[in-house]
Amino acid sequence: MNVHDSEKVQGVLLARGMTPVEDLAQADLVLYNTCSIREKAAQKVYSRLGTFRKGRSGAAKAIGVLGCVAQQEGERFFERAPQVSLVCGSASYSILPQLLDQLEAGKSRVTGLALDTEECFETEMTRRDNPFRAYLTIIEGCDQRCSFCVVPMTRGPQRSRASDKILSEALGLVDQGYTEIQLLGQIVNAWHDPSPARLSFAELLSRVAEIPGVRRLRFTTSHPKYFTSDIVRAVDAHPTLCNQVHLPLQSGSSAVLARMLRGYTREEYLEKIHCIRKARRAISLSTDIIVGFCGETLEDFEQTLSLIKEVEYDQVFSFKYSPRPNTPAEGSGDAIAEEEKGRRLAQLQEVQRQIQVRRNQALLGESFEVLVEGYQARLGQAVGRSTTNRVINFPGSPEDIGRYLTVKVTSAGPNSLVGVRAENEA
Ligand code: SAM
Repeated sequence: MNVHDSEKVQGVLLARGMTPVEDLAQADLVLYNTCSIREKAAQKVYSRLGTFRKGRSGAAKAIGVLGCVAQQEGERFFERAPQVSLVCGSASYSILPQLLDQLEAGKSRVTGLALDTEECFETEMTRRDNPFRAYLTIIEGCDQRCSFCVVPMTRGPQRSRASDKILSEALGLVDQGYTEIQLLGQIVNAWHDPSPARLSFAELLSRVAEIPGVRRLRFTTSHPKYFTSDIVRAVDAHPTLCNQVHLPLQSGSSAVLARMLRGYTREEYLEKIHCIRKARRAISLSTDIIVGFCGETLEDFEQTLSLIKEVEYDQVFSFKYSPRPNTPAEGSGDAIAEEEKGRRLAQLQEVQRQIQVRRNQALLGESFEVLVEGYQARLGQAVGRSTTNRVINFPGSPEDIGRYLTVKVTSAGPNSLVGVRAENEA
């Protein structure tokens, strides 16, 4: 989401006639987008800001901070990092042009920190860095208020874009040559159509998947509470809708889930998984897990381990719980020692590594269509991605980038597969 926010912000700058420079030292304006989901990411910001120096002309370059740390720290930036002249959270990106006007008019400190917006960040122009896969935001902000999470406080209230705007952006992307579209939102499947068309999320998926020229459609991140069987039916009905679902679990213990205010139990989550596993096309599953949330007992943690063994995800993104400012869980008692969090994280990652080795080994001899995303000159290998989001490396050439090719798996590690090109090109 941050990557795409930056792409849209770059579009705003391009529309003003600005041009990107390769070398930071040549920039007249530096906008630095930030993340505060865990403390480590937020801590980096001030030290990184220290590295931005004077502009080529000798005049101090204008430096702005965007994103969640900007929202969280607000005007404190002007005290701790006096070189900063613009601070703007993502809920205020729609007023960025006005803020830049004020800077250009000579104002030395400008802010966009209001959170009570109903607007989405619409741009006339977006600079997309990936030439094949385009991100497309359908819903911004978050109303979930999970007790560990800073997002509702930094990205503002949940607001959905109208289906006609989304569909016309998708059509435009196809016209520009993109073949893969990824719909984005903090809770992508909480999307509600504010337009009279009143499409459901599954209907929106179908409508985008049916656009001629769209070869792959993905969506992230889904919340289990809003994950309905019609989404699985849409995946079954549309081969262009990728058979991949990322469904954050956070914990396998219902007691911990209740304290996290996630809105589902272990059993309810497993029902959703059951529904996904019943799809006609095998759907690849990935998840997010937080270990060491306040008061997580060894028994709670064991329940998380037992759930990941039961589900057998293809990928797990796992994190140590990091207390965040102004969240309901901040400062609550029963903190788990950092060392113990580290031990649980390592144990969970080892269990998952073994699952991935086993699941990937089972793919030996199978063929997949991949979109080639890169080329590693040192190894002479092309890097492709399957519809199930698996990375497959295979002997290829730089010219393969952007092509859809069929690759047969010849060996498998925990995180990626190696293959050879099959005869028939897609
Ligand atoms: N909006 C998505 C949801 O709630 O399912 C997740 C978005 S968040 C950017 C990605 C992941 O970061 C979360 O699923 C969670 O596992 C992790 N995360 C969020 N807050 C965290 C915290 N305070 N400490 C550790 N991990 C955290």
